[in-house]
Amino acid sequence: MGIVVQKYGGTSLGSLEKIKYVANRVVDRYRLGDKVVVVVSAMAGQTDSLIDLAKDITKSPDPREMDVLVSTGEQVSVALLAMAIKELGVPARSFLAHQIGLKTDSSHTKARILDIDVRLINKALDAGEIAVVAGFQGVTEDKDITTLGRGGSDTSAVALTSVLGADICEIYTDVDGVYTADPSICSNARRLDKISYDEMLEMASLGAKVLQIRSVEFAKKYNVPVLVKSTFKEGTGTLVTKEDVTMESAVVSGVTYDKNEAKITLLGVPDRPGVAATIFTPLAEENINVDMIIQNISADGKYADLSFTVTMSDYERAMAIVKKKGELLGASDILGDIKIAKISIIGAGMRSHAGIAAKMFGALSKEGINIQMISTSEIKVSCVIDEKYIELGTRVLHDVFNLGKQGDAIV
Ligand code: ASP
Ligand code: MG
Repeated sequence: MGIVVQKYGGTSLGSLEKIKYVANRVVDRYRLGDKVVVVVSAMAGQTDSLIDLAKDITKSPDPREMDVLVSTGEQVSVALLAMAIKELGVPARSFLAHQIGLKTDSSHTKARILDIDVRLINKALDAGEIAVVAGFQGVTEDKDITTLGRGGSDTSAVALTSVLGADICEIYTDVDGVYTADPSICSNARRLDKISYDEMLEMASLGAKVLQIRSVEFAKKYNVPVLVKSTFKEGTGTLVTKEDVTMESAVVSGVTYDKNEAKITLLGVPDRPGVAATIFTPLAEENINVDMIIQNISADGKYADLSFTVTMSDYERAMAIVKKKGELLGASDILGDIKIAKISIIGAGMRSHAGIAAKMFGALSKEGINIQMISTSEIKVSCVIDEKYIELGTRVLHDVFNLGKQGDAIV
Protein backbone atom coordinates (compact mmCIF):
# COMPACT_ATOMS: atom_id res chain seq x y z
CA MET A 1 0.00 0.00 0.00
CA GLY A 2 1.78 3.09 -1.21
CA ILE A 3 1.35 6.74 -0.38
CA VAL A 4 -0.09 8.82 -3.18
CA VAL A 5 0.30 12.61 -3.20
CA GLN A 6 -2.16 14.49 -5.38
CA LYS A 7 -2.31 18.25 -5.80
CA TYR A 8 -5.37 20.05 -7.12
CA GLY A 9 -5.06 23.60 -8.38
CA GLY A 10 -7.52 26.45 -7.99
CA THR A 11 -9.32 25.89 -11.28
CA SER A 12 -10.00 22.30 -10.21
CA LEU A 13 -11.65 23.62 -7.04
CA GLY A 14 -13.35 26.66 -8.54
CA SER A 15 -16.89 25.81 -7.38
CA LEU A 16 -18.63 23.50 -4.92
CA GLU A 17 -19.49 21.20 -7.84
CA LYS A 18 -15.84 20.94 -8.71
CA ILE A 19 -14.83 20.35 -5.10
CA LYS A 20 -17.33 17.49 -4.95
CA TYR A 21 -15.95 16.13 -8.20
CA VAL A 22 -12.41 16.23 -6.81
CA ALA A 23 -13.63 14.53 -3.62
CA ASN A 24 -14.94 11.69 -5.79
CA ARG A 25 -11.65 11.33 -7.61
CA VAL A 26 -9.70 11.27 -4.37
CA VAL A 27 -12.04 8.70 -2.86
CA ASP A 28 -11.77 6.50 -5.98
CA ARG A 29 -8.04 6.46 -5.47
CA TYR A 30 -8.39 5.71 -1.77
CA ARG A 31 -10.68 2.78 -2.53
CA LEU A 32 -7.96 1.27 -4.70
CA GLY A 33 -6.13 0.75 -1.42
CA ASP A 34 -3.67 3.64 -1.47
CA LYS A 35 -2.94 6.06 1.35
CA VAL A 36 -3.92 9.41 -0.10
CA VAL A 37 -2.54 12.85 0.70
CA VAL A 38 -4.23 15.72 -1.15
CA VAL A 39 -2.63 19.15 -1.40
CA VAL A 40 -4.91 21.98 -2.43
CA SER A 41 -4.74 25.53 -3.71
CA ALA A 42 -7.30 28.19 -2.93
CA MET A 43 -10.51 28.16 -4.99
CA ALA A 44 -9.97 29.83 -8.38
CA GLY A 45 -9.62 33.59 -8.16
CA GLN A 46 -9.55 33.63 -4.34
CA THR A 47 -5.90 34.56 -3.93
CA ASP A 48 -6.28 37.40 -6.43
CA SER A 49 -9.38 38.70 -4.63
CA LEU A 50 -7.58 38.64 -1.29
CA ILE A 51 -4.66 40.56 -2.77
CA ASP A 52 -7.12 43.11 -4.19
CA LEU A 53 -8.65 43.60 -0.76
CA ALA A 54 -5.26 44.49 0.67
CA LYS A 55 -4.51 46.84 -2.22
CA ASP A 56 -7.73 48.72 -1.54
CA ILE A 57 -6.35 49.52 1.89
CA THR A 58 -2.73 50.26 1.14
CA LYS A 59 -0.39 50.50 -1.82
CA SER A 60 2.33 48.60 -0.03
CA PRO A 61 0.79 46.02 2.30
CA ASP A 62 2.99 44.72 5.07
CA PRO A 63 4.29 41.34 3.80
CA ARG A 64 3.68 39.62 7.12
CA GLU A 65 0.02 40.64 7.16
CA MET A 66 -0.27 39.85 3.47
CA ASP A 67 0.68 36.25 4.23
CA VAL A 68 -1.86 36.05 7.05
CA LEU A 69 -4.44 37.26 4.56
CA VAL A 70 -3.67 35.23 1.44
CA SER A 71 -3.06 31.97 3.29
CA THR A 72 -6.76 31.94 4.20
CA GLY A 73 -7.71 30.90 0.67
CA GLU A 74 -6.21 27.47 1.22
CA GLN A 75 -7.80 27.18 4.66
CA VAL A 76 -11.21 27.44 2.99
CA SER A 77 -10.48 24.82 0.36
CA VAL A 78 -8.97 22.19 2.70
CA ALA A 79 -12.00 22.41 4.97
CA LEU A 80 -14.51 22.17 2.12
CA LEU A 81 -12.69 19.30 0.44
CA ALA A 82 -12.38 17.37 3.71
CA MET A 83 -16.13 17.81 4.27
CA ALA A 84 -16.92 16.71 0.73
CA ILE A 85 -14.81 13.56 1.19
CA LYS A 86 -16.55 12.74 4.46
CA GLU A 87 -19.89 13.14 2.72
CA LEU A 88 -18.82 10.22 0.56
CA GLY A 89 -18.37 8.10 3.64
CA VAL A 90 -14.59 8.22 3.85
CA PRO A 91 -12.74 9.71 6.83
CA ALA A 92 -10.67 12.78 6.01
CA ARG A 93 -8.76 15.36 8.01
CA SER A 94 -7.59 18.80 6.96
CA PHE A 95 -4.15 20.13 7.88
CA LEU A 96 -2.80 23.65 7.92
CA ALA A 97 0.91 24.42 7.72
CA HIS A 98 1.42 24.83 11.45
CA GLN A 99 -0.13 21.45 12.15
CA ILE A 100 2.33 19.63 9.91
CA GLY A 101 5.26 21.75 10.99
CA LEU A 102 5.81 23.04 7.48
CA LYS A 103 8.64 25.34 8.48
CA THR A 104 9.91 28.04 6.18
CA ASP A 105 12.36 30.90 6.35
CA SER A 106 10.87 34.30 7.09
CA SER A 107 10.92 35.83 3.59
CA HIS A 108 7.25 36.65 3.54
CA THR A 109 5.31 36.14 0.28
CA LYS A 110 8.16 34.05 -1.16
CA ALA A 111 9.29 31.86 1.72
CA ARG A 112 11.38 28.73 1.27
CA ILE A 113 10.56 25.41 2.87
CA LEU A 114 13.05 24.27 5.51
CA ASP A 115 11.38 21.28 7.06
CA ILE A 116 8.14 19.30 7.29
CA ASP A 117 7.10 17.14 10.20
CA VAL A 118 4.99 14.37 8.72
CA ARG A 119 4.07 12.65 11.99
CA LEU A 120 0.48 13.90 12.10
CA ILE A 121 -0.07 13.12 8.45
CA ASN A 122 1.26 9.60 8.90
CA LYS A 123 -0.92 9.15 11.95
CA ALA A 124 -3.98 10.17 9.95
CA LEU A 125 -3.02 7.88 7.08
CA ASP A 126 -2.45 4.96 9.44
CA ALA A 127 -5.88 5.58 10.91
CA GLY A 128 -7.35 5.17 7.44
CA GLU A 129 -8.00 8.86 6.87
CA ILE A 130 -7.35 10.93 3.77
CA ALA A 131 -5.04 13.83 4.63
CA VAL A 132 -6.07 17.11 3.02
CA VAL A 133 -3.21 19.59 3.25
CA ALA A 134 -3.28 23.34 2.63
CA GLY A 135 -0.73 24.21 -0.04
CA PHE A 136 1.08 27.52 -0.39
CA GLN A 137 1.37 28.22 3.35
CA GLY A 138 4.13 27.73 5.87
CA VAL A 139 5.13 28.86 9.32
CA THR A 140 8.38 30.32 10.60
CA GLU A 141 10.38 29.38 13.66
CA ASP A 142 8.62 32.31 15.38
CA LYS A 143 5.20 30.96 14.40
CA ASP A 144 4.53 33.61 11.80
CA ILE A 145 2.49 32.52 8.79
CA THR A 146 4.30 32.63 5.45
CA THR A 147 3.45 31.82 1.85
CA LEU A 148 5.60 30.23 -0.84
CA GLY A 149 4.97 32.63 -3.73
CA ARG A 150 2.26 32.51 -6.38
CA GLY A 151 1.65 28.97 -7.52
CA GLY A 152 3.39 27.75 -4.38
CA SER A 153 1.03 24.83 -3.75
CA ASP A 154 2.96 22.97 -6.43
CA THR A 155 6.04 23.28 -4.25
CA SER A 156 4.12 22.19 -1.14
CA ALA A 157 3.05 19.06 -2.98
CA VAL A 158 6.51 18.22 -4.29
CA ALA A 159 8.06 18.76 -0.87
CA LEU A 160 5.47 16.53 0.80
CA THR A 161 6.03 13.83 -1.78
CA SER A 162 9.70 13.91 -0.97
CA VAL A 163 9.43 13.82 2.83
CA LEU A 164 6.66 11.22 2.84
CA GLY A 165 8.77 9.03 0.58
CA ALA A 166 5.97 8.74 -1.99
CA ASP A 167 7.02 7.61 -5.46
CA ILE A 168 5.48 10.39 -7.50
CA CYS A 169 3.76 13.75 -7.16
CA GLU A 170 0.56 14.01 -9.20
CA ILE A 171 -0.38 17.56 -10.11
CA TYR A 172 -3.97 17.91 -11.33
CA THR A 173 -4.75 21.05 -13.24
CA ASP A 174 -6.84 22.52 -16.05
CA VAL A 175 -4.50 21.36 -18.81
CA ASP A 176 -3.73 17.73 -19.55
CA GLY A 177 0.02 18.12 -19.63
CA VAL A 178 2.91 20.15 -20.96
CA TYR A 179 2.66 21.02 -24.65
CA THR A 180 5.16 21.69 -27.40
CA ALA A 181 3.57 25.16 -27.68
CA ASP A 182 0.52 27.05 -26.47
CA PRO A 183 -2.33 24.98 -27.99
CA SER A 184 -4.47 28.10 -28.36
CA ILE A 185 -1.90 29.39 -30.85
CA CYS A 186 -0.67 26.15 -32.45
CA SER A 187 -3.60 23.89 -33.20
CA ASN A 188 -1.20 21.02 -33.84
CA ALA A 189 0.70 21.44 -30.55
CA ARG A 190 1.51 18.08 -29.06
CA ARG A 191 1.42 16.97 -25.46
CA LEU A 192 4.81 15.75 -24.30
CA ASP A 193 4.82 12.36 -22.56
CA LYS A 194 8.00 13.24 -20.73
CA ILE A 195 10.15 16.26 -20.16
CA SER A 196 13.36 16.68 -18.18
CA TYR A 197 13.61 18.86 -15.07
CA ASP A 198 15.96 21.25 -16.85
CA GLU A 199 13.68 21.67 -19.83
CA MET A 200 10.69 22.19 -17.56
CA LEU A 201 12.63 24.78 -15.58
CA GLU A 202 13.37 26.70 -18.76
CA MET A 203 9.79 26.36 -19.94
CA ALA A 204 8.42 27.59 -16.62
CA SER A 205 10.74 30.57 -16.50
CA LEU A 206 10.19 31.40 -20.18
CA GLY A 207 6.44 31.66 -20.02
CA ALA A 208 4.80 28.24 -19.70
CA LYS A 209 2.69 28.54 -16.58
CA VAL A 210 1.97 24.91 -15.83
CA LEU A 211 4.17 24.53 -12.74
CA GLN A 212 5.72 26.94 -10.28
CA ILE A 213 9.44 27.24 -11.08
CA ARG A 214 10.41 26.50 -7.51
CA SER A 215 8.47 23.26 -7.46
CA VAL A 216 10.54 22.08 -10.43
CA GLU A 217 13.78 23.14 -8.74
CA PHE A 218 12.72 21.22 -5.67
CA ALA A 219 11.70 18.18 -7.69
CA LYS A 220 15.03 18.20 -9.48
CA LYS A 221 17.03 18.57 -6.29
CA TYR A 222 15.25 15.72 -4.52
CA ASN A 223 14.59 13.69 -7.63
CA VAL A 224 10.80 13.66 -7.29
CA PRO A 225 9.00 12.65 -10.49
CA VAL A 226 6.09 15.01 -11.15
CA LEU A 227 3.12 13.95 -13.25
CA VAL A 228 1.04 16.82 -14.66
CA LYS A 229 -2.49 15.71 -15.51
CA SER A 230 -5.93 17.10 -16.14
CA THR A 231 -8.48 16.94 -13.33
CA PHE A 232 -11.38 16.60 -15.69
CA LYS A 233 -10.05 14.74 -18.74
CA GLU A 234 -8.71 11.21 -18.80
CA GLY A 235 -5.15 10.95 -20.06
CA THR A 236 -1.62 10.00 -19.22
CA GLY A 237 -0.32 13.54 -18.69
CA THR A 238 3.29 14.70 -18.84
CA LEU A 239 5.96 13.24 -16.61
CA VAL A 240 8.62 15.68 -15.46
CA THR A 241 11.63 13.61 -14.57
CA LYS A 242 15.36 12.98 -14.88
CA GLU A 243 16.80 13.31 -18.34
CA ASP A 244 17.03 9.96 -20.08
CA VAL A 245 18.27 8.59 -23.36
CA THR A 246 14.99 8.89 -25.21
CA MET A 247 14.72 12.57 -24.36
CA GLU A 248 18.14 13.40 -25.68
CA SER A 249 17.06 12.70 -29.22
CA ALA A 250 14.57 15.57 -29.11
CA VAL A 251 16.63 18.57 -30.11
CA VAL A 252 13.85 21.05 -29.50
CA SER A 253 11.02 20.08 -27.15
CA GLY A 254 8.95 23.21 -27.12
CA VAL A 255 8.35 26.83 -28.03
CA THR A 256 7.27 29.33 -25.38
CA TYR A 257 6.59 33.03 -25.29
CA ASP A 258 6.38 35.67 -22.62
CA LYS A 259 4.59 38.98 -23.18
CA ASN A 260 5.35 40.10 -19.70
CA GLU A 261 8.61 41.91 -20.47
CA ALA A 262 9.56 45.43 -21.44
CA LYS A 263 12.73 46.83 -22.99
CA ILE A 264 14.71 49.84 -21.87
CA THR A 265 17.42 51.38 -24.05
CA LEU A 266 20.06 53.99 -23.23
CA LEU A 267 21.62 55.58 -26.29
CA GLY A 268 25.03 57.19 -26.43
CA VAL A 269 26.41 56.54 -22.97
CA PRO A 270 30.17 57.01 -22.65
CA ASP A 271 32.10 53.78 -23.16
CA ARG A 272 34.14 53.60 -19.99
CA PRO A 273 34.43 51.30 -16.98
CA GLY A 274 31.63 51.58 -14.43
CA VAL A 275 28.79 52.57 -16.74
CA ALA A 276 26.98 49.24 -16.54
CA ALA A 277 27.46 49.18 -12.78
CA THR A 278 26.01 52.70 -12.50
CA ILE A 279 22.81 51.49 -14.18
CA PHE A 280 22.45 47.98 -12.83
CA THR A 281 23.51 48.41 -9.21
CA PRO A 282 20.58 50.67 -8.26
CA LEU A 283 18.21 48.35 -10.14
CA ALA A 284 19.50 45.40 -8.13
CA GLU A 285 19.18 47.39 -4.92
CA GLU A 286 15.52 47.95 -5.77
CA ASN A 287 15.12 44.21 -6.31
CA ILE A 288 14.44 44.68 -10.00
CA ASN A 289 15.41 41.62 -11.99
CA VAL A 290 17.09 42.32 -15.30
CA ASP A 291 16.76 39.60 -17.89
CA MET A 292 18.46 40.13 -21.26
CA ILE A 293 21.18 42.71 -21.70
CA ILE A 294 22.97 43.85 -24.84
CA GLN A 295 25.58 46.54 -25.25
CA ASN A 296 26.93 47.88 -28.52
CA ILE A 297 29.91 50.14 -28.95
CA SER A 298 29.90 52.84 -31.60
CA ALA A 299 32.44 52.62 -34.41
CA ASP A 300 34.65 55.30 -32.87
CA GLY A 301 34.63 53.42 -29.58
CA LYS A 302 33.57 56.45 -27.52
CA TYR A 303 29.92 55.68 -26.93
CA ALA A 304 27.82 52.65 -26.21
CA ASP A 305 24.13 51.80 -26.53
CA LEU A 306 22.73 49.64 -23.79
CA SER A 307 19.44 47.71 -23.90
CA PHE A 308 17.93 45.37 -21.36
CA THR A 309 14.61 43.83 -20.41
CA VAL A 310 12.68 43.78 -17.14
CA THR A 311 9.27 42.34 -16.25
CA MET A 312 6.31 44.61 -16.91
CA SER A 313 5.55 44.99 -13.22
CA ASP A 314 9.02 46.48 -12.65
CA TYR A 315 9.03 48.64 -15.77
CA GLU A 316 7.89 51.96 -14.29
CA ARG A 317 10.24 51.72 -11.34
CA ALA A 318 13.14 50.66 -13.55
CA MET A 319 12.49 53.50 -15.99
CA ALA A 320 12.55 56.07 -13.18
CA ILE A 321 15.93 54.83 -12.01
CA VAL A 322 17.39 54.62 -15.50
CA LYS A 323 16.25 58.16 -16.35
CA LYS A 324 18.01 59.51 -13.30
CA LYS A 325 21.21 57.56 -13.84
CA GLY A 326 21.16 58.03 -17.61
CA GLU A 327 21.08 61.78 -17.24
CA LEU A 328 24.02 61.64 -14.87
CA LEU A 329 25.95 59.60 -17.42
CA GLY A 330 25.04 61.97 -20.24
CA ALA A 331 23.05 59.45 -22.29
CA SER A 332 21.79 61.03 -25.51
CA ASP A 333 18.39 59.35 -25.22
CA ILE A 334 16.47 56.86 -23.10
CA LEU A 335 13.79 54.75 -24.74
CA GLY A 336 11.22 52.35 -23.39
CA ASP A 337 9.24 49.72 -25.27
CA ILE A 338 6.51 47.68 -23.64
CA LYS A 339 5.27 46.14 -26.87
CA ILE A 340 7.89 43.44 -26.98
CA ALA A 341 7.78 39.72 -26.29
CA LYS A 342 10.30 37.01 -25.71
CA ILE A 343 9.96 33.91 -27.82
CA SER A 344 12.07 30.87 -26.94
CA ILE A 345 12.89 27.37 -28.08
CA ILE A 346 13.85 24.82 -25.46
CA GLY A 347 15.44 21.41 -25.74
CA ALA A 348 18.00 19.31 -23.92
CA GLY A 349 19.28 18.03 -27.26
CA MET A 350 20.67 21.47 -28.11
CA ARG A 351 23.64 20.60 -25.97
CA SER A 352 24.85 18.22 -28.61
CA HIS A 353 23.57 19.85 -31.80
CA ALA A 354 24.98 22.80 -33.68
CA GLY A 355 22.99 25.19 -35.82
CA ILE A 356 19.77 25.27 -33.80
CA ALA A 357 19.94 29.01 -33.11
CA ALA A 358 20.74 29.76 -36.75
CA LYS A 359 17.74 27.73 -37.82
CA MET A 360 15.55 29.71 -35.42
CA PHE A 361 16.83 33.07 -36.69
CA GLY A 362 16.39 31.98 -40.30
CA ALA A 363 12.79 30.91 -39.70
CA LEU A 364 11.90 34.22 -38.04
CA SER A 365 13.59 36.29 -40.72
CA LYS A 366 11.78 34.44 -43.49
CA GLU A 367 8.56 35.82 -42.03
CA GLY A 368 10.00 39.31 -41.77
CA ILE A 369 10.17 39.15 -37.97
CA ASN A 370 12.98 41.33 -36.69
CA ILE A 371 15.04 40.03 -33.77
CA GLN A 372 15.80 42.80 -31.29
CA MET A 373 17.76 40.85 -28.70
CA ILE A 374 19.05 37.31 -28.30
CA SER A 375 20.05 35.24 -25.33
CA THR A 376 21.07 31.62 -25.12
CA SER A 377 21.77 28.97 -22.55
CA GLU A 378 22.82 25.35 -22.96
CA ILE A 379 19.27 24.27 -23.62
CA LYS A 380 17.39 27.32 -24.88
CA VAL A 381 17.52 30.21 -27.31
CA SER A 382 15.39 33.30 -26.67
CA CYS A 383 14.69 36.23 -28.97
CA VAL A 384 13.00 39.51 -28.19
CA ILE A 385 10.59 40.43 -30.97
CA ASP A 386 7.73 42.84 -31.53
CA GLU A 387 4.75 41.64 -29.50
CA LYS A 388 2.50 41.60 -32.55
CA TYR A 389 4.48 38.68 -34.01
CA ILE A 390 4.05 36.28 -31.10
CA GLU A 391 1.47 34.08 -32.77
CA LEU A 392 3.17 34.01 -36.13
CA GLY A 393 6.58 33.46 -34.54
CA THR A 394 5.32 30.61 -32.36
CA ARG A 395 3.71 28.84 -35.32
CA VAL A 396 6.73 29.28 -37.54
CA LEU A 397 9.15 27.89 -34.95
CA HIS A 398 6.80 25.06 -34.05
CA ASP A 399 6.75 24.08 -37.73
CA VAL A 400 10.40 24.52 -38.53
CA PHE A 401 11.39 22.19 -35.69
CA ASN A 402 8.66 19.68 -36.60
CA LEU A 403 7.12 19.84 -33.15
CA GLY A 404 3.58 19.15 -34.25
CA LYS A 405 4.29 15.79 -35.80
CA GLN A 406 4.39 12.51 -33.94
CA GLY A 407 7.75 11.38 -32.66
CA ASP A 408 10.82 13.37 -31.83
CA ALA A 409 11.78 16.55 -33.58
CA ILE A 410 14.16 15.93 -36.42
CA VAL A 411 16.49 18.71 -37.40
N1 ASP B 1 -3.36 30.07 -4.15
C1 ASP B 1 -2.02 30.43 -4.44
C2 ASP B 1 -1.95 31.21 -5.74
O1 ASP B 1 -2.97 31.49 -6.33
C3 ASP B 1 -1.10 29.25 -4.48
C4 ASP B 1 -1.40 28.26 -5.57
O2 ASP B 1 -2.45 28.31 -6.18
O3 ASP B 1 -0.56 27.41 -5.83
O4 ASP B 1 -0.90 31.59 -6.16
MG1 MG C 1 -0.84 26.71 -10.31
